[in-house]
Amino acid sequence: MAALFDYDENREAASAAKVRALEALLIKKGVLGSDSVDAVLSHFETVAGPFNGARIVARAWLDSAYKRRLLDDTPKAIAELNFPGMNGAEGEHMKAVANSESVHNLVICTLCSCYPWPVLGLPPYWYKDPVFRSRGVREPRAVLREFGVPISADKEVKVWDSSAQIRWFVIPERPAHSEHLNEAQLAALVTPEAMMGVALVPSPSAA
Ligand code: FE
Repeated sequence: MAALFDYDENREAASAAKVRALEALLIKKGVLGSDSVDAVLSHFETVAGPFNGARIVARAWLDSAYKRRLLDDTPKAIAELNFPGMNGAEGEHMKAVANSESVHNLVICTLCSCYPWPVLGLPPYWYKDPVFRSRGVREPRAVLREFGVPISADKEVKVWDSSAQIRWFVIPERPAHSEHLNEAQLAALVTPEAMMGVALVPSPSAA
């Protein structure tokens, strides 16, 4: 990551301090209610987040017919699982693509930071970075290598550009030696990064 992004160590802490100061000011000015921010945070902790995407991926790993439906009509297949909040902001036009032995998928948004909030939550800061957005298109294999995901030359890399029209997410490959795991245990292995294509799902035996 160091070669990709050159941020100050305290970047997150500095951002958090700025946000707290802004929030206090907006509440003082009467622009925000004191519980507005908590309500939004709670939404992204309990309703919309990568825990949904992880359950979708685990179901697809266990049920090949579900996986086909998910790739064929992603919103319809997601609706089968009855998660709340799937029609919320940034939830329109979600589309899943699957990694395989021959293809690795990487999701970016070249224009800004379009991202499927209901299944992945809010994007990490680097997803919005112009360096990631431009290099992801120009040299995806180099970017993936820097993320610790070297892709062999005989594997195709597909880069998907999320937008207001389509918000992509990746069904990663099911790791080896995971046959004994149930759906919840499989879901626990799936990270947001794996569903963006910048990480693989590690084999549970490697842990
Ligand atoms: Fe965008």
